This record gives sequence, C-alpha cells and structure tokens, in this order.
Amino acid sequence: MAVPKRRTSKTVKRQRRTHFKLQVPGMVDCPNCGEKKLAHRVCKACGTYKGSEVVNK
Ligand SMILES: [Zn+2]
Repeated sequence: MAVPKRRTSKTVKRQRRTHFKLQVPGMVDCPNCGEKKLAHRVCKACGTYKGSEVVNK
C-alpha cells in the first residue's frame, strides 16, 4: 500500500483546509428587502421574485 513519504507540514495542511468553509452556497441578497435568500428562488422574507412578482406574504 502506498504511504506518504513525508509528513504533511502544519502550514501545508492549513493551506489546504482554507478551502473547507462552513457556509451555505448560493445565498444572495434580496433586491427588494435585502435579506439573504437562495438564488433563483422566491424570497422567503418578502415573497418577491424578479422585482415585484409577489407570491404571498
Ligand atoms: Zn426579500
């Protein structure tokens, strides 16, 4: 079985882990109310999509 020749240094390990992020992707600010909402979906806070298309409130 292949085994690493050298131990991964603390710096290299930490540099790699800067790409692991604890956050939900696809969040954008609602142009109507400024709340964070999922992209391409109706805003949960104000019920609008693409300007003034009101779904419910
Ligand atoms: Zn909104």
